[in-house]
Amino acid sequence: MFLYLEAKNLLKKNNLILRKRWGQNFLIDSLVYDKIIQSAKLSLNDHVLEIGAGLGFLTRLLAPKVSKVFTVEIDKKLVFLLQEQLSDFKNVEIINQDILKVDLKKLLNNYQEIKKVKVVANIPYYITSPIIFKLLEYRDIISDITMLTQKEVGERIIAAPGRKDYGILSIMVQYYAFAKKAMLVENSSFFPIPKVDSMLINLRILDKPKVSIENEKFFFNLVKTLFHQRRKMIANNLKSYSYNRQVLAKLFNELKIDPKVRAEMLSIEEIAKLSNSLYKLASSN
Ligand code: SAH
Repeated sequence: MFLYLEAKNLLKKNNLILRKRWGQNFLIDSLVYDKIIQSAKLSLNDHVLEIGAGLGFLTRLLAPKVSKVFTVEIDKKLVFLLQEQLSDFKNVEIINQDILKVDLKKLLNNYQEIKKVKVVANIPYYITSPIIFKLLEYRDIISDITMLTQKEVGERIIAAPGRKDYGILSIMVQYYAFAKKAMLVENSSFFPIPKVDSMLINLRILDKPKVSIENEKFFFNLVKTLFHQRRKMIANNLKSYSYNRQVLAKLFNELKIDPKVRAEMLSIEEIAKLSNSLYKLASSN
């Protein structure tokens, strides 16, 4: 309630109009803030990247707990407000940019001592996938990601084989990171109240990908092909690759994978085995 009033007053005082197109739904539930901070497991040596500072409610909780906070906010008007609100925190750097355009490596280049950052954020949901893919691209300078996502997206990210949410996003993320749910968050924890519920998730970037892959491009293409029609048997999904049927049958037999199962039943390890064998086959032709 308290944060709700503070948010309303701040907006009013600064003549701010909320921008729907920038996904401005501010978190106003202090219990959820506590959980975000707790599950991010921060220490005073940590450097944090926040995406979408909004009114700075999360930023001001992060700043005293870590060495440095970089916070990216696209909305110039909010940036003015943030500069005022956060002026006491000398370790906060506010970056007025589109997160998708920020060169994270360059940002850290100014700080020799910073090797890795932890991402802690209530991101704008309209660009969830681009943000996740960007962060995964920069995985060598990121150790952990603690963030809110739309509940359904969170379910897809953490899903295990056999679950209806298991698919391309689960595999892309779990290939690079250990993913887990920290808590479910109801839509009423935000202002204005969005249509969707949320999930707080933790991703811990793995030192090396979960499985060893001969050719990553081939692997990700295979994943897309297998899940394009997820209800089909994998043997049928592979038709577009035009492998010889007998060769394929032998290969499935060797790998102990049933060609009649659906892709959603395959573990990442099985898809990796399949990918490496198919890749070998393709490059030997
Ligand atoms: N972290 C705040 C705000 C979350 S709302 C809170 O929890 O209350 C999402 C925020 O992301 C908004 O402030 C919005 O202006 C900002 N935003 C939207 N698109 C962005 C982009 N492309 N890059 C950086 N920030 C963005």
